[in-house]
Amino acid sequence: MTGYQQARWIDEDKLEPLIFEKSQEGEAGSSPYPEPIEEPDLPKELLREKLSLPELSESEVVRHFTRLTQMNYGIDSGIYPLGSCTMKYNPKISEDLAALEEASCLHPSQPEGTVQGALEIMYRLEEFLAEISGMDRVSLQPAAGAQGEFLAMLITRAYFESRGEERSEVIVPDSAHGTNPASAVMAGFSVTVVPSNERGRVDLDAFKDSISSDTAAIMLTNPNTLGLFEDQIVELVKAAHDVGALLFYDGANLNGILGKTRPGDMGFDMVHFNLHKTFGTPHGGGGPGAGPVGVKKELEKFLPTPLVGYDEENDFYYLDHARPDSIGKIQSFHGNFGVLLKAYAYILLLGASGLVEATEAAVLNANFIQQKLLKTNGYELKYDSDSPCKHETVFSAEPLKKEFGVTAKDVAKRLLDHGVHAPTYYFPPIVPESLMIEPTETESKEELDRFINALKSISEEASSNPEKVLSAPTRTAIGRLDEVKASREPILTWKMYSRKRE
Ligand SMILES: *Cc1c(COP(=O)(O)O)cnc(C)c1O
Repeated sequence: MTGYQQARWIDEDKLEPLIFEKSQEGEAGSSPYPEPIEEPDLPKELLREKLSLPELSESEVVRHFTRLTQMNYGIDSGIYPLGSCTMKYNPKISEDLAALEEASCLHPSQPEGTVQGALEIMYRLEEFLAEISGMDRVSLQPAAGAQGEFLAMLITRAYFESRGEERSEVIVPDSAHGTNPASAVMAGFSVTVVPSNERGRVDLDAFKDSISSDTAAIMLTNPNTLGLFEDQIVELVKAAHDVGALLFYDGANLNGILGKTRPGDMGFDMVHFNLHKTFGTPHGGGGPGAGPVGVKKELEKFLPTPLVGYDEENDFYYLDHARPDSIGKIQSFHGNFGVLLKAYAYILLLGASGLVEATEAAVLNANFIQQKLLKTNGYELKYDSDSPCKHETVFSAEPLKKEFGVTAKDVAKRLLDHGVHAPTYYFPPIVPESLMIEPTETESKEELDRFINALKSISEEASSNPEKVLSAPTRTAIGRLDEVKASREPILTWKMYSRKRE
């Protein structure tokens, strides 16, 4: 029995009521303030006579919130295979470290002499990330992946301005994450989309046709969002550099390459990381993240200010503000220090060999699912079904739609009834009825089997009892909202971004 079923068992017909509805006058838990609080030193007109708060015993409060959490689903409940999101289990010890007073009670304006430990952690994390990515310097400031991309585009602009060149265009493949074109447009560039070939890689000829002396940057994800490695990466990079363009690597999901290859070695000039995907911070729920950006030597001077420096002679870490070519600040102070600390702890915990092992397990898990689903009716690979994937695999549920009218969305909804979180669906838009599956390295074979079996049983059900799939979910706290009519097809299409070349 899953959590929400337990919750319903307590009250069959009704969801958990609001805590205000449960309030009973006079009920109270134990008071933490046995003595009356002193008259507060506040203006009279701002004081309230009475505050209408729910009145419940302590046990009722605990049960109320426990039931609410049981209606939810998270990585601590089971597999969370959202493609391009890297929803993996992160060691709880990192949370303990980030919660330590020494970390959580720092003020970013404290004198450098009082925060040497924090500065040293930032300095060393920068070194780790530079080593992992093959870059020369890293800014830890951006608070999210998209902000990191935006920063890379601002650096691109500053770079060409410093050379007196006017370049207006950024190239992204049609398999790119949606934040890429958005970041480029926000930084004032126009975006040209290049198509993928039948192998799910960037079409090299179309790519060469679309780049010119007006191209400022190329934004690439590798492995791309189909989970496929761009095996022509060397030619792509060379073609871009031949026209003087910069190459930006979207490193949000580094689980596919950690310790195996590096964006810097592939020839990229800039990369962003999502510490809240790959490096130890839970992702989702809108919590704090970090999207550091690494660059090659010639772009270092444009990085946001300050960077952390180290004065070896005096063994002193300091904030280097004297950076006249910097694009300025992209985020207040130094970014989300707690997330940076968790990434530092995570990297130390796993060590170099552990990071490699994580990547190998992430890729193995994705391929295990790919192989099992290839043998399952109803799901198919649209691109290069012969080659192994990297950290994720994108299946199409089109056969189910054609035969039984069951869409990817219906499959996703029915998965919830199996107590499994749905994969990403309808992304990337180049796969019809897409189910984008990223199991990550932290799932056991049993959990992968549970997920695969759920997908198998849904495909069988689609033929024997399609209504059941179409009306799912029925075992969650609530069923479908008013979304039934909406978005059977992806709302966002690349046409919104693409611009015809004159
Ligand atoms: C998640 C993701 C992003 C955006 O990261 P946010 O932290 O959500 O802004 C960019 N690119 C790819 C490939 C991603 O998976």
